[in-house]
Amino acid sequence: MTTTIPAYAAPAAKAPLERTTVSRRAVGEHDVLIDIKFAGICHSDIHQVRDEWGGARFPMVPGHEITGLVAEVGPGVTRYAVGDRVGVGCFVDSCRECANCLAGEEQYCLKGFTATYNSVGRDGEPTYGGYSTQLVVDENYALRIPEGIGLDVAAPLLCAGITLYSPLKHWNAGPGRKVAVVGMGGLGHMGVKIAAALGADVTVLSQSLSKKADAERFGAHHYYATSDADTFEQLAGHFDLIVNTVSVNLDLDAYLSLLALDGTLVNVGAPEHPASLNVFSLLGGRRSLAGSNIGGIRETQEMLEFCAEHGLGSEIELIAADQVNEAYDRVVASDVRYRFVIDTATI
Ligand SMILES: [Zn+2]
Ligand SMILES: [Zn+2]
Repeated sequence: MTTTIPAYAAPAAKAPLERTTVSRRAVGEHDVLIDIKFAGICHSDIHQVRDEWGGARFPMVPGHEITGLVAEVGPGVTRYAVGDRVGVGCFVDSCRECANCLAGEEQYCLKGFTATYNSVGRDGEPTYGGYSTQLVVDENYALRIPEGIGLDVAAPLLCAGITLYSPLKHWNAGPGRKVAVVGMGGLGHMGVKIAAALGADVTVLSQSLSKKADAERFGAHHYYATSDADTFEQLAGHFDLIVNTVSVNLDLDAYLSLLALDGTLVNVGAPEHPASLNVFSLLGGRRSLAGSNIGGIRETQEMLEFCAEHGLGSEIELIAADQVNEAYDRVVASDVRYRFVIDTATI
């Protein structure tokens, strides 16, 4: 039997979010019911509520940075028990059969993963995200939140944290490697913390120097303003890895020129418009231009353990659910340090 629960939803594209109810499926054989405690606000929530990427479904309950406590388990559940601290990230299912799913890279499921919201589940029902009080999810798509990280500061790790951890690991950020993080927002500040904890030499490239003190507190070793043309001259050929968290079109040729031999520029933010570059920027220095999208369940769990071990969480501003529309405007204006998190007790 489905249950009806309170949620915050956008009734139509660009409409303000408002309190409503949605239904959750009955707890199945392998499902866990989660009492949601916190839900982070990701910039992609705003893109989707405003239908800026197309294909938006309404009503839409956003939220894919979810933490809470297990309230009920199905009879076949083996990994979790009532009371466990758990999280859910950007997807709640995948085909489980393709080469990528079998490799633990469900985020690249060849049949497409089932997104936590704005998607259709394998039962044919729409999926609703974390701006709500409860969620039912297959235990294989839930994560364990280690003791030692607060559920509030852990929530943004489920998207922002893994979005940065995965490429930093894949491209070997670590001791002796020079890593730059472009942008110091919800994604970038986690990139700084994780790259520094991995032992890399970390530089922030941000429009202005306004967040320099914060970046240093998070572990950055260097900080440059990209509005200063000297930055690109000083740092030419310098980095092994640049992770670009900014979702506006950058001058790719200028950023590629900052890479050392065999260096890689990885994009984790997606601009609305196609990008262009001069291919000579890749030929010189055998450079690579790459992208990376969140991470698989196994790697997300590894990221959570890593963050717990190193005492890392997101920097958050906790808000009540009725502040969500105002928070959206502030995210768009880059006026948040560094992630809004909804206290779902206020829904
Ligand atoms: Zn996200
Ligand atoms: Zn698959």
